[in-house]
Amino acid sequence: MNTREEIKENIRRILGELDGRAELLLATKTVPAELINYAVTCGTRLIGENRVQELLEKYDSLDKENMEIHFIGHLQTNKVKYIIDKVSMIHSVDSLALASEIEKQAAKHNLTMKVLVEINIGSEAGKSGIAMEDTEEFLEKIGEFPHLQPCGLMIIPPKTEFPEENLHFFEKIYQKFIDIRVKKEDNKNWAVLSAGMSGDYLQAVSCGANLVRVGSAVFGARSYPV
Ligand SMILES: *Cc1c(COP(=O)(O)O)cnc(C)c1O
Repeated sequence: MNTREEIKENIRRILGELDGRAELLLATKTVPAELINYAVTCGTRLIGENRVQELLEKYDSLDKENMEIHFIGHLQTNKVKYIIDKVSMIHSVDSLALASEIEKQAAKHNLTMKVLVEINIGSEAGKSGIAMEDTEEFLEKIGEFPHLQPCGLMIIPPKTEFPEENLHFFEKIYQKFIDIRVKKEDNKNWAVLSAGMSGDYLQAVSCGANLVRVGSAVFGARSYPV
């Protein structure tokens, strides 16, 4: 794990590279709460956790008033109830079952949850996300849930040796994102394209991503490679 000084420098550098083109979300898995509390004082207040258990363990120690917490990892339907009142956006909606459980829990708490639809952009077997060609139909279905606000799309492209190899996926998802915006009657909330991580955030942003999820390039290498 990097020192506070390094974390601050990394965040400043990345914000400079992004130059206002995209928001920087800090992917904070394995990062202790006190370091997250420090990191959100360095220029971005957006954090993303990807495991329910880990978020719950840290939650009481987080300076919630200084940050906005998103859920970015694969979410099991039976765990929605633990995080529904703790996060402001869920990036990883990848099934109708998950969407309807979020609807149910959001209704119970009398809130509207912002969600992104996760697309399996590389059509990888065993990977989360709905198929690209099913996006519109899926959006139509979840559009009927009053406590869900679909705000955009999210992808985790295949692992590659060089970031350039995924450029075509970033281009494809941006095109889909724009197509949907054009077709949507009520599109003012359709605003987020979450793509790009430590190895490829510049490529993602050059293709139109406006939210990047960056972990190791800020905090250093992790002990588990999720
Ligand atoms: C860990 C993680 C990231 C960030 O990964 P890095 O390569 O460390 O930047 C982004 N998105 C999700 C869903 C993650 O779990």
